[in-house]
Amino acid sequence: MDEQTREALRRLPSVDETMRALEAESDAELPRWALLQAVREGVAARRAVLLAGDAELGELDLGELRRRAVALARPSLRPVLNATGVVLHTNLGRAPLAPRALERIAAVAGGYSTLEYLVEERRRGSRHVHASSLLKELCGAEDAVVVNNNAAAVLLCLAALARGREVVVSRGELIEIGGSFRLPEVMAASGAILREVGATNRTHLRDYERAIGPETALLLKAHRSNFAVVGFTAEVAPAELTALGRARGIPTLFDLGSGSLLPLGELGLPEEPTVQEAVRAGFDLVCFSGDKVLGGPQAGLIVGRGELCRALRSHPLMRPLRPDKLTLAALEATLELYRDGQARERLPALRMLALDETELRRRAQRLRALLRKRLPPAFEVELTAVGSKVGGGALPLAEPPSFAVALRHPELGPDELEARLRACEPPVIATIGRPAPSAGRSRRQEPELLLLDVRTLAEEELALLAEAAERAFATAG
Ligand SMILES: *Cc1c(COP(=O)(O)O)cnc(C)c1O
Repeated sequence: MDEQTREALRRLPSVDETMRALEAESDAELPRWALLQAVREGVAARRAVLLAGDAELGELDLGELRRRAVALARPSLRPVLNATGVVLHTNLGRAPLAPRALERIAAVAGGYSTLEYLVEERRRGSRHVHASSLLKELCGAEDAVVVNNNAAAVLLCLAALARGREVVVSRGELIEIGGSFRLPEVMAASGAILREVGATNRTHLRDYERAIGPETALLLKAHRSNFAVVGFTAEVAPAELTALGRARGIPTLFDLGSGSLLPLGELGLPEEPTVQEAVRAGFDLVCFSGDKVLGGPQAGLIVGRGELCRALRSHPLMRPLRPDKLTLAALEATLELYRDGQARERLPALRMLALDETELRRRAQRLRALLRKRLPPAFEVELTAVGSKVGGGALPLAEPPSFAVALRHPELGPDELEARLRACEPPVIATIGRPAPSAGRSRRQEPELLLLDVRTLAEEELALLAEAAERAFATAG
């Protein structure tokens, strides 16, 4: 070590000194442990730099240390602004809950509740009653069971009805949904034996008929959710499959994925069978997610025949897959909105999906005005037409028309703009894409831009986004 480095190390401020300086000018809200860890990291990093031979370091930057302490003290699970236009964004928490669901969680979760207690009868009750009567009524089913998510619903149905026996499924429906849900693997985990029928693009009733034998326990139909088969295709209509099951005395299950209780056409989306229609088509069990198009909490909802639901409830997997009180509180409140005819107005996910072009354009204009006011003059801030996504593995081909604000800067490329917005608090999650083509050009000829789709931004979030952007680009000229 040369003399210069030794001297620089001697002059390195101590942790105690730096801590005192930092505490003197920091928000009292910041916990001491976070300040201390930031200081230790900061001092250690400087020591490492000095030892590596760079003796020309300036002062320790207290502002930098404070920002690091703030980041350390921040919760890991925290809000973001979703400017992707993907309404049911699985990575961003899928459906935002309605105020009524939040109030219900607050009402029961901070104290004790009737989770498993019958007040009138002074005895133990069952958590399964809470959402199931509403579910039965809304879906027109005999009975209902709620589990932790729809993957759990599929697993439970397979384990309870088909363990060690065969489940007949069309090859065109052997789906993988985001990472870890692959139908063949869930089937294996449940102990059921997969019996694939048909071809990827075409499956006929006779394929199912031929596959049925003494080992057949279940006929399964799975919604394709996140992909589409087009061209020379054939699939068996729900009512035909259920008629076959009834004729042969084999139960039928429809994994609807993103089940909707409202006709999707009412939200301006392509029609899909609703949960009620799947029940009416004669499926013995129908399962779907609580936090996809339904607009509620994460849950797996199973509706169908009474004796099958009873078998599910008494299966040993029911206990590990059961929902907690927060879920049940939010789910009951969400289902009440359907019962009261207020789902479309009060469920944030449905409202976002149903936003029309006039309203989206108005919001985008408002965001553009806010950003023009707050961003440095070098930015170009323009409106552009884009296609949003439903997300959550629902309606993969639907691109409901929306509006985005596109940002462009002469020196900062779209990747840099995206990264800086993501580093904000709250983080702004945007996409990079091409705007709708202008006259005489194709989309591919348009330059890539940073896009802020307003479909997934609540009215009050527009100002928050503009403020975050102002902070992110305060130094961008
Ligand atoms: C989304 C989906 C699942 C998994 O549901 P989660 O609620 O995410 O557990 C299962 N099957 C289908 C067809 C789906 O679309």
